[in-house]
Amino acid sequence: VKNIAVLTSGGDAPGMNAAIRAIVRTGNYFQLNVYGVMYGYRGLINGEIMKMDSRSVANIIQRGGTILKTARCKEFFGYEGRQRAYEQLKKYQIDGLIVIGGDGTFKGAFTFSKEFDIPCMGLPGTIDKDIDGTDYTIGFDTAVNTAVRAIDKIRDTAEAHDRLFIVEVMGRDAGYIALHSGIATGAEHVLLPEQPTRIQDIIDALQANERRKKLVNIIVVAEGDQSGGANEVARVIKEQLPHFDTRVCILGHIQRGGAPTCLDRILASRMGYAAVLALMEGKHHNCMVGVVNNQIQFTPLENAVKASPRIDPEWFQMIRILAS
Ligand code: ATP
Repeated sequence: VKNIAVLTSGGDAPGMNAAIRAIVRTGNYFQLNVYGVMYGYRGLINGEIMKMDSRSVANIIQRGGTILKTARCKEFFGYEGRQRAYEQLKKYQIDGLIVIGGDGTFKGAFTFSKEFDIPCMGLPGTIDKDIDGTDYTIGFDTAVNTAVRAIDKIRDTAEAHDRLFIVEVMGRDAGYIALHSGIATGAEHVLLPEQPTRIQDIIDALQANERRKKLVNIIVVAEGDQSGGANEVARVIKEQLPHFDTRVCILGHIQRGGAPTCLDRILASRMGYAAVLALMEGKHHNCMVGVVNNQIQFTPLENAVKASPRIDPEWFQMIRILAS
């Protein structure tokens, strides 16, 4: 491998820049030419490719977003689109590709690597932490810390007014942000896509709290929760408990932005470095780089799929006990 390229694809996640920096600098150190592809697979198809060097990734380790931009690209689902992408790679004699993104990005890379015999490596970059083959994904720790800081602030105002706050955090299919931020902020209830919750049980618990003069309650809801999100939960609660001072706060995209935490910077640096070495050594081609039990682990791209929900039921009991 002499010339490698890196792109970011799908939803952005804080820490992607730290990964790009690690890939460029590791590649340069080992005398590889490193190219950056703008706008994910779309830029690959359109030839938006530029040479990068150590200087072009200076001062980005601490920045959220991705300097390579990201996009979703319909054409890459079709063979013709992928063929055009391959022709661009050939033009630059690129013989190794590193993609940073989620499971969709890995599916694309897997198909591409099979069809055109181009070694691909994947780095899990998604705030949702829902990819098989890794304990953590780039961006999760930052997103969850952003949510924690926001919910702490919400609790201050909830406390001042004796309010019930229903806070919606990101997570369409996976509730890890809700679960972790809920535990870390002492939320009274956490609603996740993985675990159906009866709103009636929450209403009963709120009434029990009221009887013992506990009037401040925080409910953290993942956007993909089966009860329909924070607004729907609030509607049902307001119907049955109209005397509660109930407010909704949807945190939204602030969870995607901001400076990556130390943990995300280190994770991204380790993964980027390992991906380049793997391409050079030719050992783990067409794999995703993960970290399992704090060790780098390689998982074939076709197995680096959305992780099926597996949240230990004991966590829910712990939430109830700790918030009592
Ligand atoms: P996130 O989890 O943040 O949404 P993702 O990588 O899963 O990230 P997707 O939109 O699913 O995001 O995929 C990103 C891009 O990867 C798609 O726009 C498409 O170009 C490509 N892609 C996804 N699935 C496939 C597939 N089955 N075949 C070819 N390309 C694909």
